Amino acid sequence: MRPRLVLVLGDQLSEGLSALEAADPARDIVVMAEVMAEARSVPHHPRKIVLVLAAMRKFAERLRALGWRVAYTQLDEDGNSGAITGELLRRAEGFGAAEVLATRPGEWRLTQALAGVPLVVTMLPDDRFLCPATDFADWAAGRKVLRMEHFYRRMRQRTGYLMEGDTPAGGQWNFDHENRKPAKADLLRAPPLRHEPDAVTQAVIDLVQARFADHFGTLTPFWFATDREGALRSLEHFLTHHLRDFGTCQDAMLAGDGFLHHALISPYLNIGLLSPAEVCDRVEAEWRAGRAPLNAAEGFIRQVLGWREYVRGIYDLHGPGYAEQNALGHTRALPALYWGAPTRMACLQAVVSQTREHAYAHHIQRLMVTGNFALLAGVDPGAVHAWYLAVYADAFEWVEAPNTIGMSQFADGGVLGSKPYVSSGAYIARMSDYCRGCAYDVTAKTGEGACPFNLLYWHFLDRHRARFQPNPRMAVIYRNWDRLAPEHRAQVLTQAGGFLARLEAGEAV
Ligand code: FAD
Ligand code: SF4
Repeated sequence: MRPRLVLVLGDQLSEGLSALEAADPARDIVVMAEVMAEARSVPHHPRKIVLVLAAMRKFAERLRALGWRVAYTQLDEDGNSGAITGELLRRAEGFGAAEVLATRPGEWRLTQALAGVPLVVTMLPDDRFLCPATDFADWAAGRKVLRMEHFYRRMRQRTGYLMEGDTPAGGQWNFDHENRKPAKADLLRAPPLRHEPDAVTQAVIDLVQARFADHFGTLTPFWFATDREGALRSLEHFLTHHLRDFGTCQDAMLAGDGFLHHALISPYLNIGLLSPAEVCDRVEAEWRAGRAPLNAAEGFIRQVLGWREYVRGIYDLHGPGYAEQNALGHTRALPALYWGAPTRMACLQAVVSQTREHAYAHHIQRLMVTGNFALLAGVDPGAVHAWYLAVYADAFEWVEAPNTIGMSQFADGGVLGSKPYVSSGAYIARMSDYCRGCAYDVTAKTGEGACPFNLLYWHFLDRHRARFQPNPRMAVIYRNWDRLAPEHRAQVLTQAGGFLARLEAGEAV
């Protein structure tokens, strides 16, 4: 019998992958390939490239130890065709294979590319999610609006997480109101678990240093885990040191601590080293054992069981082209400060430099600092999307695009959120300590030193009045704006325009 090829992509590093489950180690050959087309599809952060390539190399070894034959192509290997489809064809010729078993890629771009390969490709569902794609489609069918909260409740009922019979534990579905506290610097807060690179990871670090030095981002000291054991240790570190405070400080930001009580496990979940089910199981077990309060366990499980599954469903449902939407017609180029050019805005400076250093920023930093600013300034959402996809270690289009195009930039016209996530400087001042070290004054609404978020917030609302004023959730904001003296409003708009002109001219604003 001719062998079949079993394709395992860089974000499919799970032993239970559907393509592996459907294959036969005695007959079939696993194909894994490090290719330039993927490594350079956007200028990925060097830490992300190391994470994926090192984890792929180790996963290939793991499969070999389990008895699989693995045809692995390294990035610099002679004959590397540079693309996944090219590697499949090369291997098919080499092994005399005509059939491919594949688990559906997360990204539409690759799904389409595989559909065009002149081989018989059996595409199996990616069942590493808690909500099968067909279930999401059933839930969405016939609904006018697809709100995460409704989806989340259904997922709680379906999976039984944090349920007591038919009712949610604690009598509430959502404890978010307890989860909006600012944080204080705390020397006793445990830092992230750092994983020393082993020989495999070090070889990839050397390769990436040599080949991707032009990409934005600091590579060393590299501290991500690159195998399942390390990812599990990171999960346990979070459960032991951070889960109990996860909820309370979830939205807080500190200049001196970019990690606070976050889990730092999204890269491992997204490449398959951890599964969402095992993560939710462990978090629920901590709560049931009395080691974590309900607001923390619920807040965390909502992110994984709710948000993560929901954004995947939205991406799948919309099909290719989701990331090309631009409902607000924004066209400004991405300001150079996103790539590290100097800025006087302390919040942006802190989040961008943390991103450059660690390929990590937590949700509120992404949403309410870099995302908020890009939306207020009217930056082209395609450019914002390309930036988020490049700079974070956990960025894969199925999860990044709905968060950026939908949640953060409102470029999908409100599929994901009922109103845009925009705020003036007051929100950042309340949830962080950034403003204390800023050249701008967050309390000033106009004038030389006024916080740019204060100016741009009203500029944004004013220029999109026709779209947002009819939204009942925003009507009161417009009433407040209209109550201000006309001269004050004119001053805000003129000064916002002046700020945008300086930004456009490349000044260090
Ligand atoms: P924690 O805060 O500890 O949360 C726990 C887990 O919940 C995360 O590991 C993650 O798997 C899941 N989660 C939380 N929020 C979300 C969400 N909104 N969508 C999906 N999963 C979520 N997340 C990615 O995994 N990849 C991305 O490319 C990505 N891009 C984003 C872009 C923007 C503009 C925004 C606003 C958010 C983005 N997120 C993305 C969601 C979120 O910021 C990250 O999942 C989170 O910061 C990862 O860090 P953590 O593991 O410490 O998360
Ligand atoms: Fe950011 Fe404005 Fe605060 Fe400065 S004053 S840190 S620009 S929110």
